[in-house]
Amino acid sequence: MKYSAAKIFLEGIFGNRGWRKAWREPQPKKNYDVIIIGGGGHGLSTAYYLSNVYNINNVAVLEKGWLGSGNIGRNTTIIRSNYLLPENEPFYEFSLKLWEGLEQDTNYNSMVSQRGVINIFHSDPQRDAFVRRGNAMLLSGADADLLDENALRKLCPYLDFENARFPVKGALMQKRGGTVRHDAVAWGYARGADMKGVDIIQNCNVEGFIIKNGVCSGVRTSKGDIQAKKVASCVAGSSSQVMSTAGIRLPIESHVLQAFVSEGLKPILDNVITFGAGHFYVSQSDKGGLVFGGDLDGYNSYAQRGNLPVVEDVCEGGMAIIPMIGRARLLRMWGGVMDMSMDGSPFIDRTHIDGLYFNGGWCYGGFKATPASGYCYAHLLATDTPHPVARGYKLDRFRTGNLIDEKGVGAQPNLH
Ligand SMILES: Cc1cc2nc3c(=O)[nH]c(=O)nc-3n(C[C@H](O)[C@H](O)[C@H](O)COP(=O)(O)OP(=O)(O)OC[C@H]3O[C@@H](n4cnc5c(N)ncnc54)[C@H](O)[C@@H]3O)c2cc1C
Repeated sequence: MKYSAAKIFLEGIFGNRGWRKAWREPQPKKNYDVIIIGGGGHGLSTAYYLSNVYNINNVAVLEKGWLGSGNIGRNTTIIRSNYLLPENEPFYEFSLKLWEGLEQDTNYNSMVSQRGVINIFHSDPQRDAFVRRGNAMLLSGADADLLDENALRKLCPYLDFENARFPVKGALMQKRGGTVRHDAVAWGYARGADMKGVDIIQNCNVEGFIIKNGVCSGVRTSKGDIQAKKVASCVAGSSSQVMSTAGIRLPIESHVLQAFVSEGLKPILDNVITFGAGHFYVSQSDKGGLVFGGDLDGYNSYAQRGNLPVVEDVCEGGMAIIPMIGRARLLRMWGGVMDMSMDGSPFIDRTHIDGLYFNGGWCYGGFKATPASGYCYAHLLATDTPHPVARGYKLDRFRTGNLIDEKGVGAQPNLH
């Protein structure tokens, strides 16, 4: 079923009786070409690009809960490609380009809003670092604008320019960055994959792998064993748990990250703002809520909830740059489990077990990567070669010394 303005109009006239479910609820078959474990953003986008670009349709996505129950429905919805390193910037720029065409590709309103991402700097050395980053972005074909204090004042008059502990000196802006309605991304990809025949199977927990003589030929699930030529893990915060059942120990730790939404306010924030002297980022949703977040909770956990000290810490970050935020009431908050890698960069790679592939380590930046991650993972599954923009995301890079340490903080997963 194609969605269009004419369709909405006609359905309105005829009592909205013609809408069909966005995807089927099939029972698992005995055999697939590819099984994708995890019905989050990355799993569903992988299924979408496998079927729509690489023409591989005998695919199942196995999700232990319901679609969108993981981080794809829990993040603060920010997309951008303002990276520095040559292994990252082309990948995230590829992703941003896919975001720009996503709604047309999937025929689904994901509310892609390129409202601009503004990273504030507070000192001369920080400005120099942002100039360097901006230049790296321009060299990769992305957009980047350096704003001085006056330009930033015009754009964001509500920032604390007069009295701030860390003076606001200007910002690096990526105008093509912005926000996307996160759960609609999952639904759009699910619908697009389902239309090509992909089986999306919810409430199907993967409990282990069928591995013999170093070859993986399927998975053991709560709905029975299912065979496949290729098995692709894509379970974000559960990566270590799932891969340990294949005997694989990953350079990944799981941490909690919280998100917060204020009561609905009249439009005040046009862009996405990030604080450069602490950890705080905020945008305003179309319903009016300020959507914001900051640091991890700081301990390893698989719980999808966090603790109060981080609430205080994040709100302090907000008050430091936008004091008026203190007048808004906090409406709701939640947590997600983050797959934090040791250098802050992800993995899209084969494992040493034939037929078993791994995608993970997205830290708390994996939402913006959703389209490119799915595209590149589909490319790897279809061709057994890495996609050119994802070549660096290898599982053995800690052994070979080819780390992709974007922040330069070393093996500190909780700092990425
Ligand atoms: C609070 C918060 C804010 C964030 N903000 C941003 C942001 O602004 N920008 C950004 O780029 N990124 C952000 N992120 C990060 C981003 O959301 C994640 O990196 C990304 O969503 C992870 O990929 P995913 O969507 O595939 O994960 P998920 O949606 O978590 O998908 C993994 C799926 O695997 C399923 N699963 C797990 N184990 C099994 C099993 N054994 N069998 C079957 N299924 C299984 C889970 O149920 C889950 O649905 C944020 C994350 C959080 C929590």
